[in-house]
Amino acid sequence: MSETSELRGFAALGLSRERLAAVKAAGYIEPSPIQAAFIPVALEGHDVIGQAKTGTGKTAAFSLPLLEMMEEPTGSPQALVLAPTRELVQQIEAEIRKLARGSRTRICAIYGGEPIQRQLRALERGVEIVVGTPGRVIDHIERRTLRLGEIWHVVLDEADRMLDIGFRPDIERILRRVPDPHQTMLLSATISPDVRKLADRYMYRPVELNLSRDEPSVESIRQCTITVDQDRKFELLVRLLEQEKPRQCIVFTRTKKGAERLAERLARTIAGVATIHGDLPQSARNRVMQGFREATIPILVATDVVGRGIDVEGISHVINYDIPDDPENYVHRIGRTGRMGKDGVAITFVCPDQGQPLTAIEMLINRPIESVRIEGFEAFRKESASTPSFREIWSSVSRSKLVGSS
Ligand code: AMP
Repeated sequence: MSETSELRGFAALGLSRERLAAVKAAGYIEPSPIQAAFIPVALEGHDVIGQAKTGTGKTAAFSLPLLEMMEEPTGSPQALVLAPTRELVQQIEAEIRKLARGSRTRICAIYGGEPIQRQLRALERGVEIVVGTPGRVIDHIERRTLRLGEIWHVVLDEADRMLDIGFRPDIERILRRVPDPHQTMLLSATISPDVRKLADRYMYRPVELNLSRDEPSVESIRQCTITVDQDRKFELLVRLLEQEKPRQCIVFTRTKKGAERLAERLARTIAGVATIHGDLPQSARNRVMQGFREATIPILVATDVVGRGIDVEGISHVINYDIPDDPENYVHRIGRTGRMGKDGVAITFVCPDQGQPLTAIEMLINRPIESVRIEGFEAFRKESASTPSFREIWSSVSRSKLVGSS
C-alpha cells in the first residue's frame, strides 16, 4: 500500500501540513461527512454545490479549501463569502480565522448595523478573504472601497436563506461583477427551484454533493410537541425551564415584538434571559451573542432570521414558543441544538387550532413528532379535516413523557 492511501481523516483530503496543524489546533479530529466530501472537490477547483445544514461543519468545508487556494497576499481580495445574517458572517469570520492559523491570509467581515469605519480601515489595509452580507458588500462596491477585480473564489453560504430574505438582486449584482474565470461554491440546506436557478445561471458544471439526507445533527435531537392553549404558553414555558434546567436554550417566537415582550416577561421570573432580533442595534446584538456564547446568558429569546444562524455548541434545548409559519424554519430552528452530534431537545408548543402547520412540519421531516402531555396543561388539538394527519396514522404510538411531570 502506498503511503498516501494509508492517510486517514483530514490528512487524506489533500490539505497542506500547515492547514492540518490549524485543524488540529482547532481540536477537530475527524472530518465531518460534508468536509470529507466537499474539501477534495473544492481543492480541485470545481464549482461545488453542497447541500448541508448548519451544525454539520459546512463552514470549515469551504473555508479550508479557500485558505489552501489563496495566492501570495497582494492586499486585494481573492475570495468573497456571502452569508445571510450578521451573526453568520461573524461566525464564519471567526471560523476562518481559527483555521487560518499560521498563514498570512487576512480576513475582513463586513455587515450592516455597525459604523462602516472599522470595515473601511480593514479593507484599506488589505485583505484576502472578505465575508459579508450582500447588502453591505454592495455598499462597499459602490463606494469603491471593495474591488472585485482579483476575486477567484465566491462562496454563497446558506443560499436558500439569502434568497428567502430577498437578497437575490444584490447577489446577482455582485456575481455579475466577479471576473471570469472564478470558482463558485454554494451551500444550502435545501436546493429549492430558486437556488437551482441561481446555480444554473452563475455556476459552471457544478459538482453536487448532497449530505443532508443522513444529516446526523437533526437525528440526535429529541423532538416533541405539547398542545397548549395560547393563554397558557407562558406558564408552560416557565414550568419547562424550571423542570428541564436547560444548559442553554433558544426560545423562538414568530415576531420581533413577541420576542421583546416574552423576554421582558420571562426576565421577571427567571435569571439569565436576553433577546435577539433584527431591530436591535448591532452593538446590542453583539453583546447578547457574546453573553450567550460564554453562557452567562443561558436563555435567549429569538426570531427566525437572527436565531437560525446561531452556532453555539452548548445549546441543549430549543423551544418553539410559536410554531413556525414555514415548515423549513422548523428544521433550521431545531438545528441550533444537537450540534456536531451532541444531544439536544426540541420542544414545540402547538395551540389547539394549529394542527395544520404541525402536519406540514411532520410531512417535511417525514415522520410524526411525539406529543407529550404536561400535567396541568392539557389542551386538545383540533385536527384539520382536509389534511390526513400523521397523528391519525400513528395514534397508536406510545406517548412517553418528556419530563417527569409532577
Ligand atoms: P458549522 O456547520 O460550520 O456551523 O459548524 C458547526 C460546529 O462544528 C462549529 O462550532 C465548528 O467549529 C465545529 N466543527 C466543524 N468541523 C468540525 C470537526 N471536524 N470536528 C469537530 N468540530 C467541528
